Order: sequence, then C-alpha cells, then structure tokens
Amino acid sequence: MGVNKHPNKHIEAAIEYAESKGWRLTKTGKSSHAWGRLLCRCKSRQGCQISIWSTPGNSENHAKQIRRAVDKCEHEDL
Ligand SMILES: [Zn+2]
Repeated sequence: MGVNKHPNKHIEAAIEYAESKGWRLTKTGKSSHAWGRLLCRCKSRQGCQISIWSTPGNSENHAKQIRRAVDKCEHEDL
C-alpha cells in the first residue's frame, strides 16, 4: 500500500476492507476525476468496479458505498 493510501481515513479503511476481500486498487490518471478504482476478484469485463473519489462531499457515506459494493459482489475468487 504506502503510496496508494487515501488521504481520508474513512475511505482508506474501506479500501483496506476491499483489499482484504481480494479486490485490487488501481490508480487513475491525472485527467480523471476519480482518485482511483477498485476492481473485484472477477478479472473479466463483468467484474465490479468502484470509482474512489479523492474529496467526496460526504466521505463516510462514500466509504459505506464502497463497503456495500464489496459485500454485494458474488464473483468467485479466480
Ligand atoms: Zn464482483
């Protein structure tokens, strides 16, 4: 992790939760509005994707959205 730490502690905790479930974090380019993207275990196009915002209006809500998407994912670990 290290350089991939999110500045907001609620969102960082949600990212660590996702990673503990096998999700992968990818950083987006500077042109993107999102800070990064989380991809679920499914490596095909049907896999889940969550955009991580760098400064969401409500960071605790955004963290909850991330956790909810992680819990909802039913893809198998490949
Ligand atoms: Zn999924």
